[in-house]
Amino acid sequence: MSGIRVICRLRPQNKVEAEAGGKECIDYTNTSMKIKVQDRADEFSVHEFTFDHVCGPEVAQSDLFEFAARPVVGGVLNGYNGTIFAYGQTGSGKTFTMEGPDIMNTQYKGIIPRMMDALFEGLVNASESSEFTLKVSYLEIYLEKIHDLLDPAKNNLQVKEDKIRGIYIQDATEIYVGSPIEMLKAMSNGSANRAIAATRMNQRSSRSHSIFCVYVEQKDTKAGSKTSGKLYFVDLAGSESVGKTNVSGKQLEEAKMINKSLSALGNVINALTDKNASFIPYRDSKLTRILQESLGGNSETTLVIACSMNSYNDKETLSTLRFGQRAK
Ligand code: ADP
Ligand code: MG
Repeated sequence: MSGIRVICRLRPQNKVEAEAGGKECIDYTNTSMKIKVQDRADEFSVHEFTFDHVCGPEVAQSDLFEFAARPVVGGVLNGYNGTIFAYGQTGSGKTFTMEGPDIMNTQYKGIIPRMMDALFEGLVNASESSEFTLKVSYLEIYLEKIHDLLDPAKNNLQVKEDKIRGIYIQDATEIYVGSPIEMLKAMSNGSANRAIAATRMNQRSSRSHSIFCVYVEQKDTKAGSKTSGKLYFVDLAGSESVGKTNVSGKQLEEAKMINKSLSALGNVINALTDKNASFIPYRDSKLTRILQESLGGNSETTLVIACSMNSYNDKETLSTLRFGQRAK
């Protein structure tokens, strides 16, 4: 395995931060960064980190795609699985990175729409005797239940495993796609359903994980052989810690579930990067269970950690950077 690629993406300061009187608290180069954190009224500490890439707010969506996603998309055409995660507090730029603020705009579209173009370009360049079948699913994990974003009536899907299919989501809607635009339509239908659920239930989209799944099957008509690969694009639930004192009921339950599944993910990533680990705890959450065959082993994995650069969010940013560092 090529290890987990960790990319830190910094977003520009926003209005809330400016109005709160925050200051820029990060210095960075292409691969390293320093964050100054206010520990007490008059006490600061400086923490240093190194990642595969550090992308400042000036880095374009197209360049981020090259660092974060190109190697993963390339792998799937050769039969490797891959996963790209966006991790960070709510408002840090996860959805901006994965989907982008405008999926039809060549400048602003994010990783998922760009992947679609790259994938179909790759197919055109593949050998004459290769036949490809592509299909997509779109899932949301909320309170450890798997919802089908392509068919909202299905709201408690189960993870299954068998010899032929490996790990799969029973009854998940799978849409066959023959072009980038068909794939994009499936994605925007799913995202619209996610947004509807989020409106009905305040903040739900930041309390749930979304997983856009791409399945690539390749048949070599000359050799008679078959290979298949899976790609997962994961927009994780917000990593912010929810104050324990003033939440109760549903909110507390949400917070516990998010903590549980994000720490399960952290533990799996840790075990994968630890040569001495004898056991990978995939079964500790729905998320890691779904991703089991696309993390570690023969797969390409990128973790994008999305961060604010502003002192207003310094503690959350530090915790995000630490999560990213654990993956190295
Ligand atoms: P998240 O999904 O992590 O909650 P979003 O992706 O929705 O956060 O980003 C929050 C806001 O910040 C959005 O208005 C988004 O357009 C803006 N934003 C995030 N990242 C960037 C960036 N790299 N450049 C410009 N604007 C950004
Ligand atoms: Mg989001």
